[in-house]
Amino acid sequence: MNTTKIHALARDTVKAIQPYASARSSMSGGAIWLNANENALAPEYQLTGSFNRYPSCQPKAVIDGYAAYAKLQPDQVLVSRGADEAIELLIRSFCQPKQESISLCPPTYGMYAISAQSNDVACNIVPLTANFELNLPALFATSPKLVFICSPNNPTGNIIPRQQIIAVLEQFKHSALVVVDEAYIEFAPEASTLNLLNDYPNLVILRTLSKAFALAGLRCGFTLAAPDIILALKQMIAPYPLAEPVAQIAAQALRPEAIAKMQNSVNTLNQLRDNFITYAKARTGINQVWPSSANYVLLQVADAAACVAALAEQGILIRNQSSQLGLSQVVRVSIGSANEMQALTTAMDKYFNLANSTANKERI
Ligand SMILES: *Cc1c(COP(=O)(O)O)cnc(C)c1O
Repeated sequence: MNTTKIHALARDTVKAIQPYASARSSMSGGAIWLNANENALAPEYQLTGSFNRYPSCQPKAVIDGYAAYAKLQPDQVLVSRGADEAIELLIRSFCQPKQESISLCPPTYGMYAISAQSNDVACNIVPLTANFELNLPALFATSPKLVFICSPNNPTGNIIPRQQIIAVLEQFKHSALVVVDEAYIEFAPEASTLNLLNDYPNLVILRTLSKAFALAGLRCGFTLAAPDIILALKQMIAPYPLAEPVAQIAAQALRPEAIAKMQNSVNTLNQLRDNFITYAKARTGINQVWPSSANYVLLQVADAAACVAALAEQGILIRNQSSQLGLSQVVRVSIGSANEMQALTTAMDKYFNLANSTANKERI
């Protein structure tokens, strides 16, 4: 058989799937990476020992470390290979393929839809309103098993109002889990829904070490929920989801001194973000700047693809988000170090001055 015929053996679902175009897979090169919302202010970690033994499925130091950080009991915490694995586990554990559905509210994180599709679970698409809040009547008209809410939302940067999240928890109290993706919550900790966990047994919170903790390369995320939800996920998780080196570094990252360092880098990044927003609002050529409670900013420009390409030529990678439902001609800029942001604004000045003078010429 040739390879085309072999590919024909794959499930129809697999043939239909459009894989997630991650920042890392879709762009390469460049010296300054501002396209994946990573934290450039990274501490260094050390590994020790040998790795001849299989690791623990749920390493105690990691679970206890995160439980202490989140002020929860260890049985309310699951660790997985990134928050992405948690999204997949939730769908596989709670949605019957070809029968049940999830609800999601674009523009938002792409993996909810992709994990649903790869598991033959339908998506109810309920777009956010013009100011990027939930459309509650439309959401309440769906009958999902899981509702995904991203707050701060990626790529828009805003927090979903707490009263809206509570309304969704109430509405689906007996029928669905409400999954609040808090991948960026360290940049706006006061907005966390953690303190709703004891009141709402259908609340699930997703967290990660990839963003504020500056450990995207580690692949380590957390699910916070009632113990019976955590138990269901444990029934589906792989026997060894975390490699031993991952567990070692995650445990180090969750020590109080490391958490304090993370919080310092968050303060620095929040300041750099606010400075960048001030710059972008004054910059001719940037037509709209959305407020942000995370480590990225959404901008509307005349030609998003041209802007991304021009910056890439100067070694700076940012992300075009124009293909997202409800967004047009927008780019998302991740906040990097002070030097990187300086290089970015210099490159933007160059591009927009040029684009501006070309536009003027065309007008003449
Ligand atoms: C980055 C991101 C994730 C994925 O986190 P990992 O732990 O790296 O898998 C999940 N949700 C949102 C909204 C993200 O931006």
